[in-house]
Amino acid sequence: MTAPHFITVDPQFDGFVDTSHPPELIADGCIWTEGPVWHGGQLFFNDIPNKRMMRWTDGAGAQVALPNSEFANGNTLDLNGQILSCEHGGRRVIRRADPMDPEAVDVIADRFDGKRLNSPNDVVARSDGSIWFTDPPYGINSDVEGYPADSEIGGNYVFCVTPDGTVHDVATDFDKPNGLAFSPDERRLYVADSGAIKGASFPGIDYSLPHHIRVFDVDGVTLSNSRVFAVVAPGVPDGLRIDHEGYVWTSALDGVHCLSADGALIGKIWLPQQTSNLCFGGSDGQTMFITSSDKVYRVESTRRDAAQVLKGSN
Ligand code: MG
Repeated sequence: MTAPHFITVDPQFDGFVDTSHPPELIADGCIWTEGPVWHGGQLFFNDIPNKRMMRWTDGAGAQVALPNSEFANGNTLDLNGQILSCEHGGRRVIRRADPMDPEAVDVIADRFDGKRLNSPNDVVARSDGSIWFTDPPYGINSDVEGYPADSEIGGNYVFCVTPDGTVHDVATDFDKPNGLAFSPDERRLYVADSGAIKGASFPGIDYSLPHHIRVFDVDGVTLSNSRVFAVVAPGVPDGLRIDHEGYVWTSALDGVHCLSADGALIGKIWLPQQTSNLCFGGSDGQTMFITSSDKVYRVESTRRDAAQVLKGSN
């Protein structure tokens, strides 16, 4: 099997990752990993079908942090450095005051217009205190990543929760909205559409359906000027992060793709299996942690997460 490696497509990619150290496998033995987030000097990530949140440090390796995560998926940090988590089982977005304590949660959103959410997938915090998340049906359309149920909302929306707790539907025309991130100046929002993968019970990829990243202009809770930023292949974009200079790092079937500000592919972190998500972390905020099928990898980079630079932390 081909080993993990880096692929430079455009010289812009030079120096972004430490090519002398290929992607390093740091955790294995899960079923499907997502939601990497660096918090309190350790990496947290979810093993969704096993309903558990894991934690990892260089010394101790991977251990179970929460034995019942209720099929939690995407994680990110809020403005205070606490973990925001998308919970398929509870069909809600929560804040974890203590990631080791399943009871230490605040509910950010569980309904829109009186109807239960589908299964929040990924979440991001804006520096104005709003919290943005996507709500595809992957946690209700099979029993692999949640509890089968009908959608009460009847669509797969992107939502914004303003600091007063109001849940706004900000985009309603996605097939299956997934990862999302703001540009470094927060004036644009990038949202992945992974519609080409219907869910865990529907194997395969239908390339006639969306497998792209859209970008919007942001004004308050209003999104405008929607355009397709990049079509991602092979596979679909799931999670994505944007670095301090506006380069977009997205998951794909073959690892992580790095896209320039105009959407061109400039390099890849090639991994041998479908990849779901990534984050920047470590003591310097420049280590990339990548969840990829049943595994987690790390890559030393020279990049930092735009969102964390803006908030003055890793
Ligand atoms: Mg996702």
